[in-house]
Amino acid sequence: MLRRQAARESAARTYARALPIVPVRARGLTIEGADGRRYLDCLSGAGTLALGHNHPVVLEAIRKVLDSGAPLHVLDLATPVKDAFTTELFRTLPPGLADHARVQFCGPAGTDAVEAAFKLVRAATGRTGMLAFTGAYHGMTAGALEASGGAGDVRVARLPYPQDYRCPFGIGGERGAELAARWTESVLDDAKSGVPSPAGMILEPVQGEGGVIPAPDGWLRRMREITAARSIPLIADEVQTGVGRTGRFWAVEHSGVVPDVMVLSKAIGGSLPLAVVVYRDDLDVWQPGAHAGTFRGNQLAMAAGTATLAYVRQNGLAERAATLGARMLAHLRLLTEEFACVGDVRGRGLMIGIEMVNPEAPLPTSATGATGPHPPAPSIATAVQRECLRRGLIVELGGRHAGVVRLLPPLTLTDEQADAVLDRLTDAIASVAA
Ligand code: PMP
Repeated sequence: MLRRQAARESAARTYARALPIVPVRARGLTIEGADGRRYLDCLSGAGTLALGHNHPVVLEAIRKVLDSGAPLHVLDLATPVKDAFTTELFRTLPPGLADHARVQFCGPAGTDAVEAAFKLVRAATGRTGMLAFTGAYHGMTAGALEASGGAGDVRVARLPYPQDYRCPFGIGGERGAELAARWTESVLDDAKSGVPSPAGMILEPVQGEGGVIPAPDGWLRRMREITAARSIPLIADEVQTGVGRTGRFWAVEHSGVVPDVMVLSKAIGGSLPLAVVVYRDDLDVWQPGAHAGTFRGNQLAMAAGTATLAYVRQNGLAERAATLGARMLAHLRLLTEEFACVGDVRGRGLMIGIEMVNPEAPLPTSATGATGPHPPAPSIATAVQRECLRRGLIVELGGRHAGVVRLLPPLTLTDEQADAVLDRLTDAIASVAA
């Protein structure tokens, strides 16, 4: 079956394609393949499954809509299903945004909400350029605005995202983050930099695809100050970090930063496709028809999403992600001492990355003579992924150089399941390092 499908499907899509599994059943953390093998799934639909596979409250919410005879698609019309979703979503939003926010249903993917956010801030400010960060991932449709005619291209200035392990300035820590912030200020204040007056700044509070790099809270607050002082709307892309994943309902809450715009998708749809952009109501310059699209706010996804958001909130799953994530990180950090190929272990909550490096390659030296970490080792990361799979554990690969093994387990992970994940992962790393 795998071979037949592979012959018909383009190889362009890489997520999980390398895994030789034909999933036929799934529940919670577990996926069962057509061959009867069971796997612990720490890919979780690229972070979509906050409650794991087929959680009973999600299934019940979907069934309820199906059995009620409610219409499954009515474009922008108000429905009880949509009202319930919006009410629950607003209950969770960071204070400071919730009191005066609007929501725009986009759809159906995270990248659609990113496009909508760009379009919104460009319309609201009358400016065009965007500020983004090295290693960022916001989706695959950056050309869609231009292709739709009239809007022009999105010119993006790329600024340094602070990072301890591979700090662009070779310092890391708070000093490195402060230098990154000053760099951003200088670009904005330099009329010759090409983007003196951008329409918005977009950032991930924790870079996911870029290799699980949490932004320091102080740096996020600096970005808030810098953008506020220049009337540049700040867009927080919480597509991957949202819904409790990092230990707070929204990752910006760690720093207390209130963004002007939030881009949300993945877990908000309870495993079905749903994406929204939430923004301060005074940015709402859109006229009717300004942001159309046939498939927005799918009824089943909204029902599954309402159930998920409510379950995470009512069961304190963000707090649970914080404590369990801290325990898993502490365990995994010991591996940096045990295995030379484990360069760095980092994350926030249940968003965890293990950077694999090549310990035999020479340490790179910067212009100032400081040595950096060993170079990333995508081949070692791939080998760890393969060994994990042999042990019945599905992990994701990511990072700017694909050298990072990533874990995005469901927030419903039990202590015993976490131990099983850690055991299998440690075993896999040990077998690769041997
Ligand atoms: N933003 C972030 C932070 C993401 O992680 C992703 C997907 N990994 C996207 C946007 C794009 O979402 P989608 O793949 O649903 O278009």
